[in-house]
Amino acid sequence: MTEKRSVGTRIFLRVTEPLAWLFERLGIRGADEHCDWCHVPLPIGTAWLLESHRLCDACAAKARRRVARAVCVFLGFGVATIGIAGFVLVRALLQHLRLGAFDVMFLAAFALFPFLVLRYGLWQMKQQNRLGHSTEQLLAALSAVEPPGEQRGGDARPPS
Ligand SMILES: [Zn+2]
Repeated sequence: MTEKRSVGTRIFLRVTEPLAWLFERLGIRGADEHCDWCHVPLPIGTAWLLESHRLCDACAAKARRRVARAVCVFLGFGVATIGIAGFVLVRALLQHLRLGAFDVMFLAAFALFPFLVLRYGLWQMKQQNRLGHSTEQLLAALSAVEPPGEQRGGDARPPS
């Protein structure tokens, strides 16, 4: 059965159709009830959220290991840079070199850089998880309006 669409709807579909094709080709998928990494079906409310990606239990465990590894690497960098900065500071003090404010600030920035990057990364992840959580809530609201398995734009008519 053909459906009568308004001019606005037809124009909207004509404009967005190439975009949908482009997103599909680029691998950008809309929010749906699948794991974003392994694409197994993932009902609403059961997903783990990481950087606004919906993940199943297995992928979430993998992601947690990756994040833990990255945090360990950055902590290692942090310890190394603090060691190097401390070594330079002690050497300068032992050789009675005068350190200016810029030198001290540079050493402090060098020592703390990995921690600042780590802090920024974790903050960014939290922001994206907040976005993912609202996406999850939107999906839940959508699925409450449209039961699964029902076709959009079908013959369903509202009760009069
Ligand atoms: Zn998965």
